[in-house]
Amino acid sequence: MKLFFLGLDGASAQIMFERDLPNTRKLLAESTYRPCMAEDDYPYTGPSWTSIYTGVSAQEHGVTDLWGRNVEGSESYDTLRDPVMWEMLNHVGMTTGVVHMPMTTCSRRVDGYLISGFPNELEHAGVAAELMPLMQGRDLSDLIRLTPRDRILDNTWYRNYTLEQSIDIMKAMVRWKAEATRILVRTHPVDCLFVQYSMLDRIGHLLNQYLRVHDGQGWSYEPLLELYDWLDGQLADLLDVGTDYDLLVITSDHGWPAQATEPYTHDGKLFGAWHSHDGVLIIRGNAHSGPVPADRRLEQCYNRDVCPAVLGLLGEDYAALRQATRPAPAEQARSSGSESAESTIEERLRALGYL
Ligand SMILES: [Zn+2]
Repeated sequence: MKLFFLGLDGASAQIMFERDLPNTRKLLAESTYRPCMAEDDYPYTGPSWTSIYTGVSAQEHGVTDLWGRNVEGSESYDTLRDPVMWEMLNHVGMTTGVVHMPMTTCSRRVDGYLISGFPNELEHAGVAAELMPLMQGRDLSDLIRLTPRDRILDNTWYRNYTLEQSIDIMKAMVRWKAEATRILVRTHPVDCLFVQYSMLDRIGHLLNQYLRVHDGQGWSYEPLLELYDWLDGQLADLLDVGTDYDLLVITSDHGWPAQATEPYTHDGKLFGAWHSHDGVLIIRGNAHSGPVPADRRLEQCYNRDVCPAVLGLLGEDYAALRQATRPAPAEQARSSGSESAESTIEERLRALGYL
């Protein structure tokens, strides 16, 4: 495999680079790494990941909604006119597997496979709900069954489970997804694999929700920091996808503060903390992957710098590929209102290579 691209939604540069995380430290010593900043105006999951996927700013790609939905003039993954990284890689003949990259849906063709990323049920409730039973008879269904989508941690989650239970479930999801990924790599080998885990973002949002449940009482930031510790312990498992790869890229769309002492109120809502701008970009090569300078902490970059950097390390010219790649099927979702649900499902299955 040429590339393993690990997404960690909400992983903070300050915490990842400065907290005592022994396995992360060891990885950093073998890598180049830098804060990967969300844009000033859009420190959100939807715009930031789209910038990572496309190599252009939110202003240019137009995905401005927090969760990348087609609301308030925002584009979405379905309506985005720009080619995304896996489409550009497909264009030069590399196959790609895309697992739970935020906001991705099956609306765009991919040479390989794509398993939708969160929060797919928001904009695509009907189709996603109908697509899943259709896929259960197929080999991918095992993976989907093994890998609960992030919807399990939706906005009502905290009403039914304690914080401790929620954290346990998130940890189980991480372990299952890592295992499922190894199954997928064995059964569906690809040149470039993209996998995303979102617990570092989810724990931050969950803490805010539990804070509201308890009317601002009993605020503790430790559970968030402890999840970084736990994840550090799992790092070897997350990086072992069951095969060798030339290039490892770990990135996040934004960060989360390293400290939060006093809860605050914004727009009448209680918060313990909220997104910070400092995501991460960590790149580790191996003997075959060319000039990745080792053990160097570099100046910060922006989300939009990730795609050109990764393509460059794979020996490809981002600017040329961006020109040459036709995103497909472009603008499908804009006219999907008039299509029958059945034809949309067929389209998505076709995009997955099943029809
Ligand atoms: Zn995010």
